[in-house]
Amino acid sequence: TNPIFTGMPTTIFEKMSALARETGAINLGQGFPDVDGPEEIRAKAAEVALAGPNQYPSMMGIPELRQAVAAANRRFYGLDIDWQSEVLVTSGATEALADAIFGLVAPGDEVIVIEPFYDSYVPIIRQAGGTPVFVRITPPGWEIDVEALARAFSPRTKAIIINDPMNPAGKVFSHGELQAIADLCLEHDAYVIADEVYEHLTFDGLKHETLMAFPGMRDRVVRIGSAGKTFSLTGWKIGYVTAAPNLLGPVSKAHQFVTFTTPPNLQAAVAHGLAMPDSYFETLASEQARKRDRLSAGLRAAGFEVMACQGTYFVTTDTGPLGLDDDAEACMRLTREAGVVAVPVSAFYAGSAPTRFIRFCFCKRDEVLDAAVDRLAKWL
Ligand code: PMP
Ligand code: GLN
Repeated sequence: TNPIFTGMPTTIFEKMSALARETGAINLGQGFPDVDGPEEIRAKAAEVALAGPNQYPSMMGIPELRQAVAAANRRFYGLDIDWQSEVLVTSGATEALADAIFGLVAPGDEVIVIEPFYDSYVPIIRQAGGTPVFVRITPPGWEIDVEALARAFSPRTKAIIINDPMNPAGKVFSHGELQAIADLCLEHDAYVIADEVYEHLTFDGLKHETLMAFPGMRDRVVRIGSAGKTFSLTGWKIGYVTAAPNLLGPVSKAHQFVTFTTPPNLQAAVAHGLAMPDSYFETLASEQARKRDRLSAGLRAAGFEVMACQGTYFVTTDTGPLGLDDDAEACMRLTREAGVVAVPVSAFYAGSAPTRFIRFCFCKRDEVLDAAVDRLAKWL
């Protein structure tokens, strides 16, 4: 069998969710909201499923959704996107990432990956014959060392993957950091695979900026979004890719043999969602910021040091009151003894990693967050 996948452990998110189901622990591990997104979007999906058609839609995605993605790019980032040649619909951002990597990376190419990283990137880079080159950032500050980043570029660099806002760090890249990344890509003729699934989950007045809108970057960036995150419908697995035709072409060729297409009723419903007023997107973020604050306060009161969180669904803490140097062991004890599931941050690093940090997901009902904090406080 393929050595890339043989012996590979099950992804940490599935592992921790399975453990939550098995033990009855409160699941603040895997990132998913426990309240489904807008009813009007779900109603649209049901309506289209009943009325049909339910056969293969066009490979690139239904026109309404591609038009809605182009319109959202204009509304939120001022980008002028041709929906016919520059937008692709995929079955989740996970598929979009695989398509982007398979479409752009050839054997021998290097791809720069910032650690901590979402766990699907590296196996797919390797399967494409590429080599991941890691640049590490660490808690509590999660700052990018621009010198280290510059040293990671080589004549073989094909692309850099940027996850902004960043899971699990809760980091939103600053304008200066993005400009530095853009400058390096222009200097080294590299592409950006921009994993922007948390684009609408930025807090405290911070606005997401996309590298695609930086001078000179319009034709270098493959921008990836996810309806799962934007509409709190993670099980739907609808992703969308925006890229110039020269990049979207090969990405679409990969897509045609990975899934080929994506359920038509869900696409129609997401098109409806992307056209919702600004107030929807503002409330999404402000509600999550409130939940971040609620969980963070509880964790602090229980004795954890909570890192700053500017975006995403996640806060990270130290292993604090557990006094453990091993975050995986800390998460096991939290699950089995306190009844709360979290994810070890070391799972987002390749090789030796910081081992004193834990990720908690806060996109849960208030009573669930409170119950989790209560369990922690009682146990500690
Ligand atoms: N990228 C990041 C950084 C993520 O956290 C996730 C997790 N949901 C994804 C991609 C995958 O998104 P999707 O569920 O749309 O495949
Ligand atoms: N992105 C989610 C997380 O970080 C999980 C997605 C998955 O389970 N693959 O928790």
